[in-house]
Amino acid sequence: MSRLLNVVKRVVFTSTIIGGGACSLILYNVGTSSWSDSHTWSSATRHYLTNKFMVVLGFISFRDLVKNSRNVRETQENLLMDNLVKNTATLYGKEFGFEKMNSVAEFRKQHPLTRYSHYQPYVEKIQNGDLLALTADIPLQLAVTSGTSGKSSLLPTTNFIFTRFFLSGIALLFQRLQETHPEWVTLQKSMKLFYTPRWKYTETGLRIGPNSSNPDSAQRIYHLYSTPPPAYRILTEPEALYIHLLFGLLDQNLGNIEANFASTVYTGFRTLESRWEELVQDIQTGTINSNLNIPSDIREQLEAVMKPNPERAEELRKEFTAGFENIAKRIWPNLNLIMCTTTGTMKMYTSSLKSKYCRDTQTYSPIYGASEGLLGVNLYPDSTQSLYCLIPSAQFFEFIRQEDSDTDNPDTLLLHQLEKGQAYEVVVTNGSGLYRYRMGDVVQVESFFNELPMVRFLHRQGQMLNVHGEKISEEVFFTTLKKCEKTWNIRLRDYTTAESVLSESSALPHYLLFIEPESECCDLNLDLPDTTLRSDHPVYESFRAKGSIDKIQVIQVKRGSFQALQEMMLATSMASSNQFKVPRVLRKEEHVKYLLENSI
Ligand code: AMP
Repeated sequence: MSRLLNVVKRVVFTSTIIGGGACSLILYNVGTSSWSDSHTWSSATRHYLTNKFMVVLGFISFRDLVKNSRNVRETQENLLMDNLVKNTATLYGKEFGFEKMNSVAEFRKQHPLTRYSHYQPYVEKIQNGDLLALTADIPLQLAVTSGTSGKSSLLPTTNFIFTRFFLSGIALLFQRLQETHPEWVTLQKSMKLFYTPRWKYTETGLRIGPNSSNPDSAQRIYHLYSTPPPAYRILTEPEALYIHLLFGLLDQNLGNIEANFASTVYTGFRTLESRWEELVQDIQTGTINSNLNIPSDIREQLEAVMKPNPERAEELRKEFTAGFENIAKRIWPNLNLIMCTTTGTMKMYTSSLKSKYCRDTQTYSPIYGASEGLLGVNLYPDSTQSLYCLIPSAQFFEFIRQEDSDTDNPDTLLLHQLEKGQAYEVVVTNGSGLYRYRMGDVVQVESFFNELPMVRFLHRQGQMLNVHGEKISEEVFFTTLKKCEKTWNIRLRDYTTAESVLSESSALPHYLLFIEPESECCDLNLDLPDTTLRSDHPVYESFRAKGSIDKIQVIQVKRGSFQALQEMMLATSMASSNQFKVPRVLRKEEHVKYLLENSI
């Protein structure tokens, strides 16, 4: 008996020493880290534990990725076969004979390539309450796509999609940051510019809304953000943005700025530039601008965590009065990075941010993802190239060579068959009921991580200018426009294009180019985009020379027109501003008409 007692005593003693040691180590690490101004010991410790937890999860994900990257073919095969077996008994699985598909080859032979219309009847069934029409897992929500190149679609989202996104996407990027820049994984908070969506529900109670990161999906990690939780109940965007900025500014030791897209960060800085006096006044007095239209209970809760801070107000006033060049580093000297999508349609905003507000701040474009789920992760946070390593455990990938993209039933290649330098249309089969689905993105393989392709995002298929078979991609047009911007010596705030068929013009087919410069300018050489594109693109040049295409019509629009266009587009779609991307080719007459009406 006494021996047993002695053992118990020793166990208790040892656990107390180990537990106490671990706690002391944690507290020591927390105490010696750089904190955000608004952290308390409790929130800083939670922040520390969250970072550690995510890095450990990320470490496991990265180890799996490395393993899978050495055996891409088998990883993909297993993913597909598991998916087919799991969904054999669903209505869809029975209709398409999953039972008889025993290999990747049989699946590719027996199942057609699909587009959204293929799924519409099944989505309708799900909306009407038949939740298992497509998948054996009950959908958790219907994801609304942003509809950048057409109409928004509704895609079922199962737990698989969220889990993969979290483990192989978010956790993985914590590991990548920890490995490449441990000094960035700190207890400094992040000013995350995101907005609470207005969820809709089907009659049977299934949620409809965006899959992209939003405050509701981040409830467990609010302590990582500078914005206090009550602010996430503000549903109007200008007001929510004001509060994000206010609490971000209050934190002299802010670590990151985050948003889904660079456009949101850009809008944040523009708003800062136009409203800094009100914001500084609020910091001075420790109250919130009485003109800001927010519910009074939220205002009270936010003011309860503020106190007058004349010192910070003075510091900010001095910097803002000196101008907005490189302002991010001047008001947040310890800012580590800006994390948001900077590629594809976001390049425009990224270069505006880099040339003005955030010259000395590193940007990291971490994820290539969509309503269809996780597609790729940028494994190298400080590379200027922003390549995404395709994640073989997230989707079963197939690819169509870009030159075959126009055909209805082209051959596909598998993930292990891609070649460096080639461009491909992406086709996915995933855990939420999409099979051989042509999602419309075009990517180019730039290098490999072991056997895994690392791709550059090129464009969405619908974002192609094509009035006479010349096929000018968003990428090509943007490169031309960047050259013009330089020659014009102006900074463009935004741009889009359209084909002349959508205007009332009776001339030869041509492009309309709408530009909104940072400040209005009157002496622009409007022939420049056309001459530059002619020298950049031989097919365009040959059609111009033959007179098949007329020259580009450049239309300068009033300041604020693009913001108004965004509001107009969001008002008529179910997409949320967290996922909005300005289409670089307009496809609706009313949008073209609106910009024409707002020309200068
Ligand atoms: P949505 O489904 O509405 O969220 O939009 C997803 C689409 O956004 C993708 O299919 C891509 O066209 C685009 N997208 C997502 N991530 C990136 C990225 N990292 N770079 C460029 N475009 C992206």
